[in-house]
Amino acid sequence: MRILIVEDEEALAKGLGFNFEQEGFLVELAGDGTTALELFAEAEPPFDLIILDLMLPGMSGYDVCREIRKIDPIVSVLVLSARTLSEDRATAFDAGADQYLSKPFALPELISRVRNLLDRRKAMVPATAEPKPITSGKVSFGEGITVDFDRFELHVRGSLQTLTMLEMQLLRYFIERPDRVLSRNQIMHDVWDEPSAFSTRTVDNFVMRLRKIIETDAANPQHFVSVRGVGYRFLASPDEEAVAAGDSSEPENLA
Ligand code: CA
Repeated sequence: MRILIVEDEEALAKGLGFNFEQEGFLVELAGDGTTALELFAEAEPPFDLIILDLMLPGMSGYDVCREIRKIDPIVSVLVLSARTLSEDRATAFDAGADQYLSKPFALPELISRVRNLLDRRKAMVPATAEPKPITSGKVSFGEGITVDFDRFELHVRGSLQTLTMLEMQLLRYFIERPDRVLSRNQIMHDVWDEPSAFSTRTVDNFVMRLRKIIETDAANPQHFVSVRGVGYRFLASPDEEAVAAGDSSEPENLA
């Protein structure tokens, strides 16, 4: 698990870094907001949690949090601040923080809160679940939908549709990860070659296009379902939820 500690008090930052490393985390430190955002954007793999001070030189911790939320709605953010007013807490939560701990704090409490946040996140986004690779060239799902990955063809209820290379890759990505909540950031990172060159809006646009082609009613999607504030979830068989696309494929019946 990777943690980014954003803290301008060097001694505190180093002490925290040391302690979290002792707990088995991979830690990076940033002494100001701009550095934090750079590290965050370049992180590979992405950070799992951010410990964020509010009073930083230059950009405030609130603004750092808002910027981070624009690109990643699910990474855990724990604010660690000397500010104790309830309006400071409210502002931090409005900016997208998950937790707020006032300084001075007890280290065991901080560590336990971090663990709790990461456990919750894991439950929401089972990012470690293995994708189910598509082994045959054709996969069917839903009612009358067959994808022929070798020929770049998509048969939707009797009509032949063509997809671009990237649309096909995105569709394959979804089919290989049925039922999982996939964040825009994760999708962007996994499907696009140069994710930093695009905004996560790109993902929305591509999903909209897949919906238009595949869903019976694009305004009321059954397969490419939005997960509010996070991203998307692909359901191969909306009625029975967790049915793996690859397992049920009998393409010759449908093509
Ligand atoms: Ca500070």
